[in-house]
Amino acid sequence: MRVTFATEAAPGRPNEDFVAATPDVVVLLDGAGTPVGSDSGCSHGVAWFSRTLGSAVLASMTRSKDALPGLLAEGIKSVASLHDGTCDLSHPGSPSATVVLLRRTADAVEWLVLADSMLVLDVGEPMVICDDREAQIGASHRAEMDSLPSGTPEHTQAHRRYVETLRSFRNRDGGFWVAATDPKAADQALTGSMPLDKVHAAALLSDGASRPVDRFAITTWRQTLDLLAAQGPQALLKQVRYAEHSDPEGNRWPRGKAYDDATAAYCLL
Ligand SMILES: [Zn+2]
Repeated sequence: MRVTFATEAAPGRPNEDFVAATPDVVVLLDGAGTPVGSDSGCSHGVAWFSRTLGSAVLASMTRSKDALPGLLAEGIKSVASLHDGTCDLSHPGSPSATVVLLRRTADAVEWLVLADSMLVLDVGEPMVICDDREAQIGASHRAEMDSLPSGTPEHTQAHRRYVETLRSFRNRDGGFWVAATDPKAADQALTGSMPLDKVHAAALLSDGASRPVDRFAITTWRQTLDLLAAQGPQALLKQVRYAEHSDPEGNRWPRGKAYDDATAAYCLL
């Protein structure tokens, strides 16, 4: 597999996305940011969490042929054990991350998708694998935030309230699931596999990188796969920033974050 990737933090902030790859394995995580003025119970922070969990899972995927949910569950447990003595892991705002895992075996492509980062397989047509439970729950709580201009103190406060409201739905039945402190979340991920010869390429995208299609609707999955194939992941991130810059206050495209960390990995199989 030939893998190329690019990642870019939202301007002026640490990058809370994580991406890493070997010729057979790709791991992409998007850490859920802690809004300004909100507490998390953890002194390490979200960027630490996504980097530490991402590297742990990458390492176990290169060592073991075990099923992906089990490897993710082990990773969640091992990261929890690194800070359960110093941090409050029962805090509802404890760092969390979305996860997309892709593994090429001798005859198949296997995947795992947890929370709102996504996998787009090029199987002739784009095949989109996306866990939209958080978006479905969020839809009924975001009206106030979306009605306010991005960059204003009122929007910042509404975003914090939105994030804190959603925490009460995190990692419970009827809510949505992310990688945080509970290894059971791994069993809630979407998983699947496909014969190797059916998949031409695969794109792993954080929600910051999927915006042009699923939030801005300025392009399609087909065009996105073609852009990745022709110009690489950096070109997609450029498209993201160009669109965000054209609408800094979120008038055209209301959104929680005017700019978001954006990460894309493209795998040619
Ligand atoms: Zn911690």
